[in-house]
Amino acid sequence: MNSIVASPGSQSSLREANRARIVDAVKYHGGLTQVELAGVTGLSPATVSNIVKELSSSGLLHTAPTSRSGRRALHVTLAHGVGLVVGLQISDTRMRLVLADLGHQVIAERSMPLARDHRCDSELERAGVLVADMVDSVGASFADVLAIGVGLPAPIDPRSGTIVTPGLLRGWHGIPIRDELGARFNRPIFLDNEANLGALAEFRMGAARGARQAAYIRVSYGIGAGLIIEGQIFRGSSGKAGEIGHMTIDEHGSICRCGNRGCLETVIGAAALIELFRASHGELKLRDIVLQAEAGDASCRRVIADAGRHLGIAAAGLCNLVDPDRIVVGGELAEAGETLLAPLRHALERSTLWTAGGIPDVVQSDLGDKAEVMGAALAAIDAVRIASSIA
Ligand SMILES: [Zn+2]
Repeated sequence: MNSIVASPGSQSSLREANRARIVDAVKYHGGLTQVELAGVTGLSPATVSNIVKELSSSGLLHTAPTSRSGRRALHVTLAHGVGLVVGLQISDTRMRLVLADLGHQVIAERSMPLARDHRCDSELERAGVLVADMVDSVGASFADVLAIGVGLPAPIDPRSGTIVTPGLLRGWHGIPIRDELGARFNRPIFLDNEANLGALAEFRMGAARGARQAAYIRVSYGIGAGLIIEGQIFRGSSGKAGEIGHMTIDEHGSICRCGNRGCLETVIGAAALIELFRASHGELKLRDIVLQAEAGDASCRRVIADAGRHLGIAAAGLCNLVDPDRIVVGGELAEAGETLLAPLRHALERSTLWTAGGIPDVVQSDLGDKAEVMGAALAAIDAVRIASSIA
């Protein structure tokens, strides 16, 4: 058996490494009891208790009494004063922002509609005003903001921080977006595709929690997916992994904004669904279709069910490639619940490779329209290095 004779130096670096493990675990999960902390870090309960006591008195951690399964416990979070992050989602039709602490608690949020074909310069200007307003509203200062996570509805090259595919977000293409954000906010920026961030949030704190491999499919104005493989977002070599909305399902179909023909998005994207109702129902929004389906409108229910079926065929391709054990469906159309999901499961069963375990669980998003912006905040929290503050 190997025995390690620790010098005083290595003892103190071991202790520092254990402190960092605890802080990282609290940061990752947002908050845990001491018993849960011992479980996820592999440290003994006594070590966890000592370190938590020490870091609480230094102001880094905050503890509060709670209970688990009827037993008293101590809930450990990062202290509010440690810093804040901003999550920003700029989707095709809406901008959302959250101001969150490092314990994953949202302390302010903003949302505003966006014009179609919005442009990078004007929307970043607006985002700057809204960030300042959120920070002011909670009596904080911008100096408290440690990092900013940003989600966009297009594939992002993780190396260059630019959009990789022309046509999907015209007013933003060809612009070094991450650099622009960095220059504007002077903070570390984490930029990603919005579906990837939705996947991250559902995996950490929503409907994909506990899954080993998960796919988050966002069905809204556009269609996209975020893939979690072995606990990490899978982006592919250029950032376009998971672009299920541009999977060809009808080779002779309509021209898509990406330049291809018959993409899934040309069949079940918001523009396509809205067009189906123009003659019979007038100008509907995606949400109106969902609400009218809930109210019993047969044609709205039929169109959502057909969308579910098409989504199931595309999801079957995804399942054969990445084999997730859970599929979480989010975005505005997912608010239709089983009207969308039941036909999706049925199509998935028919089209995916048969296995004894059956098809993956197909569930509705837990976080609803907040998934992507929460994912942006979580990515910003991940980017924050706080180990130096505990030395
Ligand atoms: Zn396309």
